Amino acid sequence: MTHNQFSDGCAFVNGDYVPIAAAAIPILDMGFLRSDVTYDVVGVWNGKFFRLEDHLNRFEKSWNRLRMSPDINREGIRNVLIECVRRTELQHAYVNMIMTRGISEKGNRDPRLFKNRFYGFAIPYVWLARIDQQAQGIHLVIARQTIRTPTRAFDPAVKNFQWGDLTQGIYEAYERNGYTVVLPDADGNITEGPGFNVFAVKDQALRTPASGVLQGITRQTVLDLADEQGIPANASRLSADELRAADEIFLSSTAGGVIPVTTVDGQPVGNGNPGVITEKLRKRYWEAHDEERWTTSIDY
Ligand code: PLP
Repeated sequence: MTHNQFSDGCAFVNGDYVPIAAAAIPILDMGFLRSDVTYDVVGVWNGKFFRLEDHLNRFEKSWNRLRMSPDINREGIRNVLIECVRRTELQHAYVNMIMTRGISEKGNRDPRLFKNRFYGFAIPYVWLARIDQQAQGIHLVIARQTIRTPTRAFDPAVKNFQWGDLTQGIYEAYERNGYTVVLPDADGNITEGPGFNVFAVKDQALRTPASGVLQGITRQTVLDLADEQGIPANASRLSADELRAADEIFLSSTAGGVIPVTTVDGQPVGNGNPGVITEKLRKRYWEAHDEERWTTSIDY
């Protein structure tokens, strides 16, 4: 059998498909120098993209918000992503699409004059918390030292690489024996964490922060599944105290799905085990990865 040079991942850079370890970006790309970039991540499970069109919608909206005008269109992007996965032959993959401001021609600094650049890659599926960790539930910390970037500074609804706040939060979580962190806004309301949205379950109903967050596709899937299951759910303001008082808590992310939280700031959530509603949604989340309405099969 011949070795597949893409088995660790395949990237699309400057019009070429390259093995992931060989993929490099030009150092002058403003995506790197200024975090002037937006991106999106879609999962592949059992050889099928999950909600690919929803991710492409969000990505397109984001690059328009940043006033980028790439010379590749949505269909071109879709084809590149499919080809990246096809070359890796991965059945379970983490697929990233990135749009950067690009490189200045002749040293001009006017962002309108840059040629925007598209990159894509597929690598093995990434878990924010592995399945065995999910079975136990994870330890969450509410940050005291760092707030989430305010919407009027940079709208977190545009998925971005400005992770300085989130990374500081991760360090705080580790210092306080947490696995990960959720950041409050300037008024002490819960926003989101490094790579996930947050849900609280109180009196059999779901709550998730309405604003100051990325409108996660997994978050939307949870809301859709809750609706189907007749579980009341709403997006509204969620204070840190309300989160602490929740009966159940879980995180939602493309990187791992529905992730139970069993302690907050060292205190047990509910009875200290993953909650009943959380587990029901977690099961439905993975079942939905085989449902035609949300999947796009890859022809390997
Ligand atoms: N919030 C942030 C800051 C994220 O980076 C992510 C995903 O990476 C999410 C929320 C969850 O979004 P999704 O469910 O679309 O993966």
